[in-house]
Amino acid sequence: MRAAPTDVRPVRVVVRPEITAFVALGANLGDAAQALRDAFAALAGVPGVRLVKASSLYRTAPIESNGPDYINAVAEIATTLTAPELLMALQAIEHGAGRERPYRNAPRTLDLDLLLYGNASIDSATLTVPHPRMWERAFVLVPLHEIAPGLVTTDMRKAVSEQAIQRV
Ligand code: ADP
Ligand code: MG
Repeated sequence: MRAAPTDVRPVRVVVRPEITAFVALGANLGDAAQALRDAFAALAGVPGVRLVKASSLYRTAPIESNGPDYINAVAEIATTLTAPELLMALQAIEHGAGRERPYRNAPRTLDLDLLLYGNASIDSATLTVPHPRMWERAFVLVPLHEIAPGLVTTDMRKAVSEQAIQRV
């Protein structure tokens, strides 16, 4: 018979549930399409993030901004990160792509915005979710509709139908 173990300590395993989140990607400097492809790969490589769906890439004219056309897309991810942790991961990817913020709405090598995090409503100094301008932007709603049609109604898409957007 085996001796009773003398050193049995309880092991606490904390399993965080996966949350479905949506991230908007945009870029309008340099090779913007390549920047977005790299960003999808970088997102997929973040520990605690699974890339579930990537939309097509879309070309749009800048809004309240200047410079070349934008390339935009949306990603669906499943993540065990908290929303603030996810924002930090997105900012680290932006930083890795050489993102600078010389002034508001400046042209950018890469912009990653957290659109939705489960059904959470967040309003902190650094994070607002759902993203406050997402429902006004064709460059968000069109790619979001492509990968999550249930989230975007026909009326929502009609409201932004004046904004030119082209699948790349
Ligand atoms: P924008 O995306 O609005 O053009 P930035 O990318 O420079 O501008 O972001 C400015 C700040 O917006 C960030 O430092 C971040 O703290 C804040 N922010 C608030 N809500 C969000 C969100 N949902 N996703 C990304 N950033 C957000
Ligand atoms: Mg941003």
